[in-house]
Amino acid sequence: MTDTQTRKVMGIIPGTDAQDGAGVKLKRSLGGPRLQHFDPFLLLDEFRSDKPGDYIAGFPEHPHRGFETVTYMLAGRMRHRDNQGNSGLLQPGGAQWMTAGRGIVHSEMPEQEDGLMWGFQLWVNLPSGSKMTEPRYQDIDPAEIPDVDLGEGVSVRIVAGELNGVSGPVKDIAVSPTYLDVSLSSGKTFDHAVPSGHNAFVYVFGGRVRIGETVAGNADMVLLTEGDRVEVEALEDARFLLIAGQPIGEPVARYGPFVMNTKDEIMQAFQDYQSGKF
Ligand code: MN
Repeated sequence: MTDTQTRKVMGIIPGTDAQDGAGVKLKRSLGGPRLQHFDPFLLLDEFRSDKPGDYIAGFPEHPHRGFETVTYMLAGRMRHRDNQGNSGLLQPGGAQWMTAGRGIVHSEMPEQEDGLMWGFQLWVNLPSGSKMTEPRYQDIDPAEIPDVDLGEGVSVRIVAGELNGVSGPVKDIAVSPTYLDVSLSSGKTFDHAVPSGHNAFVYVFGGRVRIGETVAGNADMVLLTEGDRVEVEALEDARFLLIAGQPIGEPVARYGPFVMNTKDEIMQAFQDYQSGKF
């Protein structure tokens, strides 16, 4: 077993139109009707609109418990505030890795009245032993995210994980994530080692790519098989996220913004939220 094994395509989930928050229009791939859970990932949304009516209502106060939310902005500004007095501004090219843990109540609101708002939200599960941990934020300024130029029209922003000895700024996350934003010129191939045993997917947000025999385009989430490498070829100038993480392998009990292991823990989350214990 010394041969490398290139991951193949297991399936494609096209992002479908959805709304969340107070009416933000978005494309949801994971966490929608097609697939609820790709361990350790629970949800993937892309919001992308230059019509204020699609985003201006934002995501007013809501709770989370038992997992992590990861926001990565490409355009526009989003203000984050929580019930413990934390506040931060997400800016184009920046990210926030929030470990909700035992619980926070927060809002995520556009800090602009017009122009393009574009970004992603990924939900990452926590293992049972970490679900009730203290909440923690990793707010990442755009300049903190390394942009590795691999030449010949290939460049990679590293939010989490490693490439050519360069590490992304997000640290100490249970599932040891990879989160790369890859820009690839037409005809070029991106070849990257992804730890064997991690679940991995590609989400295309520009152009078209080929992975193995499969062609994927805009808003396609491409689920990959087991293996230790990923190869993506651009059929035209393309941009995509490559995301991977260690599966947790525990039961998932989920209701809205709470993700626990059992129904009893979900009931407890409701009670704690309603009695102001978050
Ligand atoms: Mn939220």
